[in-house]
Amino acid sequence: MTHPAIFPQLEIPETLAAGPGPGNTDARVLARFAAAGVADHMQPDVLRGMVEAKHMLRHVWGTKNVHTFGVAGTGWSALDMMFSAVRPGDTVVAFTNGTFSGIDGLTLRIKAATAEELAENSLNPQPSSVTIVEIPHGQSVKGEVVEKALAEHKPKWAFMAHWETGSGRINDLQGFSDACVTHGAMGLVDAVSSLGVEDFKIDDFAGVAGWASCPQKGICCLPLTYAPVSFTDRYISELKANGAATYANHPIFEARHWGIVDGQDVEKGTYHRTHSGYAVAAFHESLRLTLEQGVANRAKSYCHHESVLRDAVELMGCEVTSNMTSLVVLNLPESLAGREMELVQHCRAQNFGIWPTLSEPVQVRIGILNQLTRHAVTEIINRFAQAIRDLGGEVSQADLDVLLDARYGVSVAAE
Ligand SMILES: *Cc1c(COP(=O)(O)O)cnc(C)c1O
Repeated sequence: MTHPAIFPQLEIPETLAAGPGPGNTDARVLARFAAAGVADHMQPDVLRGMVEAKHMLRHVWGTKNVHTFGVAGTGWSALDMMFSAVRPGDTVVAFTNGTFSGIDGLTLRIKAATAEELAENSLNPQPSSVTIVEIPHGQSVKGEVVEKALAEHKPKWAFMAHWETGSGRINDLQGFSDACVTHGAMGLVDAVSSLGVEDFKIDDFAGVAGWASCPQKGICCLPLTYAPVSFTDRYISELKANGAATYANHPIFEARHWGIVDGQDVEKGTYHRTHSGYAVAAFHESLRLTLEQGVANRAKSYCHHESVLRDAVELMGCEVTSNMTSLVVLNLPESLAGREMELVQHCRAQNFGIWPTLSEPVQVRIGILNQLTRHAVTEIINRFAQAIRDLGGEVSQADLDVLLDARYGVSVAAE
């Protein structure tokens, strides 16, 4: 007889991750994850895998920054590390235009608050040294806005999300970087949803001192493996001069396990924390895969498939308000307005994982992370069309089929 406190074995179904992220982990990554032997964090192949991953990540991200490696965890772990150099009383200007940059703004307010400011409202501090420039949901952060705010405030740090996944908007990275250079601010960028999806190189953006991303969106790895970060020498010397109030998430300490000591690459890492061979194996494979496909090819493929998805949902009467290439954010047709949550719940109940927006206004988000085939995008479109019909909306399958044939080519067999 089983012990009454023991629950049945946990079964988790296979779902179609068609949201803003996590994306469906690539099968190759899962295979390497499962094939990793049991090995401790100082076993030579684990350490070698970390050093190799560090080198591959620099290629994927187009940077010579020595401090480029992975942080154990997800996007917020990398962001927390990136913000660790921001100290109480530091001046910051942060540009927010949705859920995620909003939380980044909160993190910055927590880090830059003095002890008194934090005690006054610890969950939502309002430090006088931090300026939040709020751009309305559905709009992008433009270079002119950044330029104007940095000219006025001359902050030590400036922050922006590259791609704001909450509203599906791409922000002006070049304009942000240029303004940081002009006004001497150190730029910090949330690149959680752009890495591995857009073709961009860190070293083209001289004004940005710190970058943070995640494992489970554009680089097709598993959450809770490694979240990529990269820091310029300027960031590291600033950090060294003033410190950070953390050991586990300290960029200089963490870098040691990746074989980066005193700003130099060394042959193998030294102990910082326990790492797992299976996480290293998964991250390593996701970077190999990204380099094999090529970031530029991937970016092109995302553009193509996103435009098909966009045309298809517009044909269904939806209004698209996003411009990211891994995601469409949309308003439902007039007749279904107000039923966004119901529609999303209906889809999710069938293991079709689309998402609502997480902050106002309520919209629907459909993503194509690691779904870059005609077959996969067609399935997403057809399942969404069926969900609209299930709620009483009208979508002509014949019209959709005509559109898909026109965009993908009639004679091409489904990939
Ligand atoms: C997903 C996302 C995050 C949060 O990342 P987690 O991996 O959930 O910790 C932060 N910022 C942006 C822009 C994101 O898209």
